[in-house]
Amino acid sequence: MPPKVVATINSTGRQAASFIRAAAAVGWHVKAQIWKREGLVFEELAELSNVEFVEGDLTGPQRNQILSNLFTGAKIAFINTTHWGDEVAIGKACADAAKRAGIAHYVYSSMPDHSTFGEDWKALPMWSSKFAVENYVRQIGIPATFTYTGIYNNNFSSLPYPVFRMELQNDGSFVWQAPFHPDDPLPWLDAEHDVGPALLQIFKMGSSHWKGQRVTLAFEKLTPLQCCARFSRGVGRPVKYVRGPIKIAVSIPSGYREHLENLQETLGDKRAPYFGPDLEYPREGRSIWEGYRGIEEYAREVFPIEEYNNGLRWMEEGSSSYAPSEHEGSVLGTDDGSRSSTRPTTPAGQAPLHISGAYTPRSHPEALQQDFFVGSC
Ligand code: NAD
Repeated sequence: MPPKVVATINSTGRQAASFIRAAAAVGWHVKAQIWKREGLVFEELAELSNVEFVEGDLTGPQRNQILSNLFTGAKIAFINTTHWGDEVAIGKACADAAKRAGIAHYVYSSMPDHSTFGEDWKALPMWSSKFAVENYVRQIGIPATFTYTGIYNNNFSSLPYPVFRMELQNDGSFVWQAPFHPDDPLPWLDAEHDVGPALLQIFKMGSSHWKGQRVTLAFEKLTPLQCCARFSRGVGRPVKYVRGPIKIAVSIPSGYREHLENLQETLGDKRAPYFGPDLEYPREGRSIWEGYRGIEEYAREVFPIEEYNNGLRWMEEGSSSYAPSEHEGSVLGTDDGSRSSTRPTTPAGQAPLHISGAYTPRSHPEALQQDFFVGSC
């Protein structure tokens, strides 16, 4: 039987690359649009024999030709648009091309528009553009499912990026300052680890099961305080949460500044739920994929490596003086109502020298320009 052929865009991004790894591992043929043949993730995907690249810039005049090539022969698609270019125009062009190609199951990575809930909430611009694309996909009537993405574990960095900076202190501890109320639950996702296996299941169950639905991709529901307690256990150092305004210490484009202002007001000051009032998590995600990587495991096994790859060396100084007490490490409340302990971690032992897709300047092109940053949450 011929393999399933699946199309992806922005294929070196964290979500698509995670899916490509999973799809390629089970023998599916992936047609993967990429912006450029560069970076660690590209090099890694290029090693996979069943990944075929369709190279080209979706923000440019070749967009329709690139998409026509991409969808030819594909039966299913995972489409994650990003902030590069006119996201709504790119999202609509992808949907139109998928419709012309007769795609049987189209999964679009969407996000909510908080201005639509009838509350006094502002839209987050980088999310509402995805919601506009979702509406268009629904209108043109292709068999589609919409994934809603939690906060990536690897947004955390000790570099001076807004919202998820784990700021290293002189005593070796970390402080995370963000506008979220310390007791408000937030959805967490290890995008590189868990988007792929979850999508694989969604595609295997098929459009008859998932058509028209919104699926939350979030595997932990943790307040900032709970998140810090787990992060602390993982990284082996104290981690303190401070509710405070978003600090902008790097140059950012005006569109991202507006996004952050609205995030601070809507999710922070007005305490709107991240996905809006209706979507459930993490039960749904866990029912699709049980093997997720939680924040504690991320902090223990991945965060120090990503930091090392970003040129930081705090992990070499050790943290021998710090051992979290039972009390300090305990999690306040439960993350899903069913358990209060943390998830067992994988027996990784010594950290490997290289984790593919680690958040390095080379795999994250905008970080190459040190005075310019567009975060993605
Ligand atoms: P990513 O940020 O890991 O990578 C972005 C990719 O875009 C890169 O691989 C880059 O090669 C590619 N790219 C395409 N065109 C480009 C251009 N013109 N210039 C530079 N790079 C270009 O991607 P991701 O994390 O899979 O997806 C990002 C999307 O996820 C964003 O739209 C964001 O809003 C959304 N999202 C993120 C979070 C989070 O917590 N980080 C949560 C929810 C939603």
